Amino acid sequence: TEPAVSNFIRSIINEDNRTGKWQGRVETRFPPEPNGYLHIGHAKSICLNFGIAQEYNGICHLRFDDTNPAKEAQEYVDAICDNVLWLGFDWGKHLYYSSDYFEQLYSFAEYLINQGKAYVDSQLADEIREQRGTLTNPGQNSPYRERSTAENLDLFRRMKAGEFAEGTHVLRAKIDMESPNINMRDPVIYRIRYVHHQRTGDKWCIYPMYDYTHCISDALENITHSLCTLEFEDHRPLYDWVLDQLQQKIPCHPQQIEFARLNLTFTVMSKRKLIELVECKLVDGWDDPRLSTLAGVRRRGYTARSIHMFTERIGVSKADSWIDMGVLEDCLREDLNESAPRRIAILKPLKLIIDNYPEEQEEDCFAPNHPQKPEWGKRTVPFSKIVYVEQDDFMEQPVKGYFRLAPGEEVRLRYAYIVKCIQVDKNAQGEIEAIHCTYDPDTKSGTDGSAKRKIKGNIHWLSAKHAKKAEVRLYDRLFTDPYPDIGGKDYKTSLNPDSKKIIYAYVEPILFNADPEQCFQFERNGYFIADRIDSKSGKPVFNRAVTLRDSWGK
Ligand code: ATP
Ligand code: MG
Ligand code: MG
Repeated sequence: TEPAVSNFIRSIINEDNRTGKWQGRVETRFPPEPNGYLHIGHAKSICLNFGIAQEYNGICHLRFDDTNPAKEAQEYVDAICDNVLWLGFDWGKHLYYSSDYFEQLYSFAEYLINQGKAYVDSQLADEIREQRGTLTNPGQNSPYRERSTAENLDLFRRMKAGEFAEGTHVLRAKIDMESPNINMRDPVIYRIRYVHHQRTGDKWCIYPMYDYTHCISDALENITHSLCTLEFEDHRPLYDWVLDQLQQKIPCHPQQIEFARLNLTFTVMSKRKLIELVECKLVDGWDDPRLSTLAGVRRRGYTARSIHMFTERIGVSKADSWIDMGVLEDCLREDLNESAPRRIAILKPLKLIIDNYPEEQEEDCFAPNHPQKPEWGKRTVPFSKIVYVEQDDFMEQPVKGYFRLAPGEEVRLRYAYIVKCIQVDKNAQGEIEAIHCTYDPDTKSGTDGSAKRKIKGNIHWLSAKHAKKAEVRLYDRLFTDPYPDIGGKDYKTSLNPDSKKIIYAYVEPILFNADPEQCFQFERNGYFIADRIDSKSGKPVFNRAVTLRDSWGK
């Protein structure tokens, strides 16, 4: 059966299954280079590759493309594994490293030399670059292009043996310096690098290039559909050329299929820029909740399910486009609206004293854990003479259409009583210190009396003597510019100065036992998560994941 929502990749697979091209087999891979943390763009690729494999009862490999040891580290490998698991995918036994193929890649290179399809070039990188030509000018052949097979083999072996300095020789594929596709103008496939590799140590001092390694790794792993982003479209002829030369040596010739990468507004995603943000301490590390890294969005409060919803919603296409950050935020709202229990927190407290409520009296109010899920039950919220409400829920001189509290006006304290404001206390500077109200004892929520009085304003509150203080981190978008790094702009000039605010809010007593990573809707305030690192039972820390509505720029 074919999946309901279709896209061009599924169409290709359906057609392959119809013709029996792969005998019904679907095998994909997610191939990160372990040179940084994954971001939300990678999540698109992960969900696509693992998702397609799941849909077709296939297999998806996790392959670390680790051929550039200078920039790679085990720390990144571990973080990437963690991210993929968090998204709910499992590679099972299909964990691979391109470096596992170094021997085979090397022997295939000797084979290409023997076939007259590769040669050692002894020019400097700059000379090679200059001879490559441009889109409008063909390239020129290297003076070393016609070396004999024996000489090429000898030099290549000596490159491997460590006889030459870095940059003195490279191995190049012998294709066509006049090809209209610059990638086909005798691309370099091996270079000398005296760098320790995190897995192979100092065994190698020559390392294969991406374009040569990737297609062969795909083939050796029996990948059927090799999904990659559009910038590799121009590399596909090279992918196919290498595999065509090695036809006798490899088990299959996978099909490279390109899709549009994710571009998301109000963020940057290139690894270089993410590294810069972290190293210049413009954010608090790789998992800063404002970053687009998967570690960051997780800490921010994004759920794996919301990321899946997002990748489904944006779909897969062949054309580059920009996705608005609001689309991602809406997915989280939708998920948490359904899955997050409701709680009360007062972010900017204003003291409200109920003059006619007895000093020592306390009573229980009952608040539903989820308004649409009665089966989740209610919890007790204690009520007493002094409560905190939000400063924003009071206006001394109310504007037109303001239905919350104002002098002489009435409002319902949600789950409790209707109160009327009768007095405002100010300090010597004229700042409001407290407001006084009277309450109507016949209007308690859930009683017959409550139904008799209709009141427009309905505000949340917490009993002052029961509420507890907790650290709350109010995060917002990291950039004020929707396209912070487009058109040569320096993204560092559009950092949002208000992207992180730490406050101490009053919260319901039961929030003190929140588990790390538990998500809540703080009524009327947004969705919050107990920070997975800093929040402890008895000393909770909450991060605002997203506001209730898209209020950006309003
Ligand atoms: P960057 O360009 O940020 O350094 P990268 O593309 O070099 O990232 P890789 O580790 O090579 O990062 O990427 C692993 C896989 O994720 C590749 O198949 C790549 O095409 C895919 N990928 C990377 N960025 C995006 C994106 N923005 N949208 C969709 N897929 C992406
Ligand atoms: Mg890469
Ligand atoms: Mg890249």
